[in-house]
Amino acid sequence: MSKFSQHALVELKSLLHSSAPIVITTHYNPDGDALGASLAWFQFLQNRGKNVSLIVPNDFPDFLAWMPGADKALIYFHHRQQAERLLKEAKLIFCLDFNVFSRVELFTKELAQATAAKVLIDHHPDPDSTFDVTFSVKETSSTAELIFDLINELGSTQEITQPIAECLYVGIMTDTGSFSYACNYPETYLAIACLVEQGVDCEAIHRLVYDTYAESRMRLLGFCLSERMVVLDEFATAYIWLSMDDLDRFNFKPGDTEGVVNYALSIKGIVFAALFTEKEDKVRISFRSKGDFKVNEFAKTLYNGGGHKNASGGDAFLPLAETLKQFESVLSEYKTKLLETSGQTAYRNN
Ligand code: 5GP
Ligand code: MN
Repeated sequence: MSKFSQHALVELKSLLHSSAPIVITTHYNPDGDALGASLAWFQFLQNRGKNVSLIVPNDFPDFLAWMPGADKALIYFHHRQQAERLLKEAKLIFCLDFNVFSRVELFTKELAQATAAKVLIDHHPDPDSTFDVTFSVKETSSTAELIFDLINELGSTQEITQPIAECLYVGIMTDTGSFSYACNYPETYLAIACLVEQGVDCEAIHRLVYDTYAESRMRLLGFCLSERMVVLDEFATAYIWLSMDDLDRFNFKPGDTEGVVNYALSIKGIVFAALFTEKEDKVRISFRSKGDFKVNEFAKTLYNGGGHKNASGGDAFLPLAETLKQFESVLSEYKTKLLETSGQTAYRNN
């Protein structure tokens, strides 16, 4: 049975009949799923002879730079005029792995004002109603898996070439933390089986994404865990904080703190973890949880953010020290739920 509404599929097929210019875009600070899904969709449409461009808001981390087609992504931050022209001229814009225009951060206005039909392909809860066609499925591993499904709906597995399969694999692998969360869907493994048949070397891809730390990044991780992690057992919570000085000291590059928050969550009994990173104008926060503690609601209520039930993000506009103090003080309101979740996850996953 299809994950998608027949109505949306019919509309998409009709939109794809045209030879008019197409833009694919994804969220700010693109991660493995954002890039994997976008690069796969980009190559699928290119292979079908479409006039298609991929606009990524800002640079992606080095550990994703090897991905097939990554060199063809136009980075808005560096090529603003060209990207804005493409957005204006497009007749069809695909928005992948985000569900509200503001998540592109740098060209929210240009995206909102673009006259193209906008198609959402995403797995985050509560999509905005501003899209013309919506493929939004929350119960799936990743946007990459949705792209896998859409390619199969529109065509056949044969169109999943090895480069496309590799991009999709990266998306699914990274958005499930190497099959450790959002991974209880049988269809995900059927998709993976197909990707392996199309030539994906899972071991090699795992090495390319996860075993390519710069020494400074690995030492930053050590520093986070030994010097900057606060464990609050009474709230089943642990958090890590990094100042701009800390980041300078370890020669921080985008992506260097990817995954750091998960270490705090790996502590026995901890069900809520946060990473606070000081920026020029704000404190960026990543949240992760186990079980039923909904970090998307937490981020939305307190930090103007959002995301998934167990992985979300937001921003604070107080100085770092005050942000941490405020975070600690707000935890008492959530204590009952946090401790209840800690009890539940001690003997089963939910
Ligand atoms: P990360 O901690 O990796 O930056 O973000 C985790 C997840 O939270 C992302 O996959 C994304 O879905 C979501 N997310 C992060 N920041 C924001 C935000 O500011 N707003 C919304 N709506 N979602 C966010
Ligand atoms: Mn995703």
